[in-house]
Amino acid sequence: MTRPKDKQATAADRKIRNAERDMVALGIAIAAVILFVGTGGTIMPQIMRNWFAGGAAPDLLLTNAVLLNIALLIFGWRRYRDLHAEILERREAEARARELAERDPLTGSLNRRSGPPAMEKLREDLNCSNRHLAVMMIDLDNFKQINDLNGHRMGDEVLATVAARVRAALPSDGILARIGGDEFACAVPFDPHARELVDDLVLNIISQVSAPVEANNMIVEATVSIGLAHSAEDLSSEAPADAEQLIHRADIAMYHAKKRGRNRHYWFEPQMEDELRFRNELEAGIRRGIAAGEFVPFYEQQIDLETGKLTGFEMLARWQSPRYGLVSPEIFIPIAEEIDLISDLSESLIRQALEDAKDWDTSLTLSVNISPIQLRDPWFAQKLLHLLVESGFPPARLEIEITESCLHENIGAVRSIVSSLKNQGIRISLDDFGTGYSSLTQLRSLPFDRLKIDRSFVAELTAGGEGKALVEAMISLGKGLSLPVTAEGIENEKVLDELQGLGGLKGQGYFYGRPEDSTSTRKRLSELGMLNEDGSGEAGKMVGERQAG
Ligand code: C2E
Ligand code: MG
Ligand code: MG
Repeated sequence: MTRPKDKQATAADRKIRNAERDMVALGIAIAAVILFVGTGGTIMPQIMRNWFAGGAAPDLLLTNAVLLNIALLIFGWRRYRDLHAEILERREAEARARELAERDPLTGSLNRRSGPPAMEKLREDLNCSNRHLAVMMIDLDNFKQINDLNGHRMGDEVLATVAARVRAALPSDGILARIGGDEFACAVPFDPHARELVDDLVLNIISQVSAPVEANNMIVEATVSIGLAHSAEDLSSEAPADAEQLIHRADIAMYHAKKRGRNRHYWFEPQMEDELRFRNELEAGIRRGIAAGEFVPFYEQQIDLETGKLTGFEMLARWQSPRYGLVSPEIFIPIAEEIDLISDLSESLIRQALEDAKDWDTSLTLSVNISPIQLRDPWFAQKLLHLLVESGFPPARLEIEITESCLHENIGAVRSIVSSLKNQGIRISLDDFGTGYSSLTQLRSLPFDRLKIDRSFVAELTAGGEGKALVEAMISLGKGLSLPVTAEGIENEKVLDELQGLGGLKGQGYFYGRPEDSTSTRKRLSELGMLNEDGSGEAGKMVGERQAG
C-alpha cells in the first residue's frame, strides 16, 4: 500500500523530472534557433546567388546542417505544443482536485476544510467597512430519524434540498459550508445597526427549509435549529473573534436552540458556554453512573380507589449521583435518550425492578416507563422478554407505560412492538394522557389496556373551572373505548374524594406517599403482609388500614 508520504514523494519526483525534461527541450529549441540563425545566415545568400545569379553551388555540409536544423525546429515546435497541452491538462486536473478538496460533493457547498478560511477571509475583508460578519450554524432536528425511517438515499435528498434552499435564501456575498453530516455553517455580512435583518434572514431560512421535501415517491419534512454569533463586539474583551471562534459560538447557540425545543434560533451569549460545560459534565456523569450502578428504581404505589387496595407499583428511575445527590429522571432521561444510552439504562433498571418485584405479593403489578426511542428498536420486545425469562417474573404482572409522544413516531413500528408485547401477556398503558396529541383513531387502533390521566388535569380537579369537566370527559372516553383509567398525581384527600365519586378508577400520587427505594418498599410490603420472602403472601390489604393502624 502506498502511504500518503510516499505518494507526496513520487509526485514531487515526477515534477522535478518533468521540469528537467522541459529544460532540455527548451535548451534544444534555443540551440536550434541560434544554429539556424548562424547557418541560415551563411547558407541562404549562397542558395540565392546560386538560384538567381548562377553562382557556385552552396556548401553541401552547411546545407545538410540547415536541413538538420529545420528538423530540430520542427521537433522543438511539436514538443512545445505537447508541453502546452500537458500544462493545460495538469491545470485542469489541479482545479478538479482543488474543487474536490474544497467542495462537498453532495450539496456543492464548501466543506469543513474550505468553509472556515473562506469565512475568515470575508471577515477580514469586512474590517475596512462598517459591516460585520454574522455566522450561523444550521442543524437538522430530525435527520437521524429521516435516515432511519426513509433510507439514506432520501436522507441525501433532504440534505441537498436543504442546502439549495439555504443557498437561495442567502445574500449574494453570503457563504455556505457543510460542516458535518447534517450541519451547515453560513456567514453573511451585516450592518450592526440592523441586526434584525439577520433575524429576518434566519426566519426565512427556517420557513423555507420546513417546506416538505418530495423525492423517490416520498414526502419528508425537516426542521432546523439555528445558532448565531457575530463579530460586532468582542464578548471576551480579548482579541476579536475569528471565523473559527464565531463558528464555535454559533454552534453553542445552536445547541441551546435545540434544548429549547428545536425549530428555533438563538444568538450566542457567554453563559451558554457554562450551560454546555455543565451539560457535558452531566453526560460524563451519566455514562460513569450507569457503569457504576448509580441508577436505581424507586417505586410509587398504585391504588384501587374504590377498595383502597394496593394493586401495584410504578417504577420510577432515580440517579444516586455522588456529585449531585438524588437526581430526577426529568433531568437524566432526556440526556440518556440523546446520547443513546436510554436502552442500556432502562434495561438495567427493569432488571433490578424485576428482581425486586419477584418477592412482592403475586397480586401486585409492576409498571415501567418506556422511552419513545426504545420503541424504535425492532428488538425491544425480544429484549424485554429476555429480561422476564431471566428473572422468572410473570409477563401478566408487567405493565409498560408509553407516552403519547410515542404515537407520533413510526406508528406502524410501534403497533408491531405493542402487539408482540401483548401476545406475551404484557399490558400496555397510555401515560400522561391529555398532554399530547393522540387522535381517537390512534387510541382505537392501538391495543391499550389502560389510560393514565396526566397529573396536570388531576391537580385542576378541585380548582373550580373546567378542570373537573375535563377529567370527567377523559374518564367517559376511557369507558367508551373500554379502557380502565388511572388518575396520576393525587396530592390530597379532596382530590381523592372527587375521583372516588367518578367511579372505577385506579390512582397514584403523593397522597399515598412519595416514591420509595427498594428497601423502603420491601418494608412497606412486609408491614402489609404482602412480601413473599417465604413464598407466601396475603393479597390486597387496605392501604387505609395500614395508614389507620
Ligand atoms: P410519569 O411516568 O408520569 O411518572 C409520574 C411522575 O409524577 C413521577 O415523577 C412522580 O414522582 C410524579 N408524581 C407522582 N405523584 C405526584 C403528585 O402527587 N404530585 C406531583 N407533583 N408529582 C407526582 P418522576 O419520578 O420525577 O418521573 C418523571 C417522569 O420521568 C415520569 O413521569 C416518566 O415519564 C419519566 N421516567 C421515570 N422513570 C423512567 C424510566 O425508567 N424510563 C423512562 N423512559 N422514563 C422514566
Ligand atoms: Mg409513568
Ligand atoms: Mg405519567
